[in-house]
Amino acid sequence: MNMVYIGIDVGGTSIKIGVVDEKGCILAQDATDTKVGRPFADIIHDMGTCALKVLAQSGYTLADVHSVGVGVPGIANQDTGNVLFCTNLHWQNVPLRAALQKYLAKPVWIDNDATVAGYAESICGVSEGTHSSVFMTLGTGVGGGIVINGKPWSGFHGVGSEIGHIPMDIDGVPCTCGNRGCLERYCSATAIIRMGRESLPTHPESGLYAACGGDASAINAKMVFDCAKNGDAVSLEIFHRYVKYMCLAIDTIICFLDPEIIILGGGVSKAGSFLLDAIRAELPRYLLLKELPYARIEIARLGADAGIIGAAMLGRANTEEA
Ligand SMILES: [Zn+2]
Repeated sequence: MNMVYIGIDVGGTSIKIGVVDEKGCILAQDATDTKVGRPFADIIHDMGTCALKVLAQSGYTLADVHSVGVGVPGIANQDTGNVLFCTNLHWQNVPLRAALQKYLAKPVWIDNDATVAGYAESICGVSEGTHSSVFMTLGTGVGGGIVINGKPWSGFHGVGSEIGHIPMDIDGVPCTCGNRGCLERYCSATAIIRMGRESLPTHPESGLYAACGGDASAINAKMVFDCAKNGDAVSLEIFHRYVKYMCLAIDTIICFLDPEIIILGGGVSKAGSFLLDAIRAELPRYLLLKELPYARIEIARLGADAGIIGAAMLGRANTEEA
């Protein structure tokens, strides 16, 4: 019988857990509520018991499990298995590996959630078979995942690929990290919402104003993009500004790393070809070497399952010799 892998995708609302085969196919999955604010031991208890339940559902036993992988919205120390920071969960120096091994006595690998999502795409998604890729999650913030030669790259100290906090403007919009003008203040869904809200007082005639009924709190990123698609001038201006910021971000990645492919994931990427076509059209203006080939820009394919698949495959990445 083949070995299987357990993948755990830790989010602020729920923890998704799956049993995955060596090709990245999910054989069984379930989820448990995170209930942020509880002691970490309670959260990891639920994680461990849910994983054992999913394993039983898959028809495999612990003896068949190669390893366990966990994707966290934060930064982990690969050597100790401790989660150093996980802002959404209020975790600091949480001994995740040691605590989880009380339930699952297997090797446990931990990495950043965007890194594992990008890794999943490189195994069985849009970047499958590529030499190198950079994955951008465009959600509440902006996460980054780098895969080089088939392996996730989180940096020597584990703090690399934090694309969202590359500074774009030293006097810019304050960021949750304490700095100003970070990339995610301009390229996230939060940024689209902010630009939409800012337009309301001066544009009561806009389609966006009508769509939200003049209520700034009702605006979401999809609403702004939908209004743009429908030709609302104010929303189109926001959309094109967003596309410019995205092109700056992508150009930064290309200048620095020159990956084979750059993948857009997360909620904003659901805009699909409306967003992708605009970015592809605008990007060449920003490139240093316009005449030479450059990274293909694509939309992520795996959606919400990427977190489970990529986390599960961490064991494969860390044990296979290059
Ligand atoms: Zn920041």
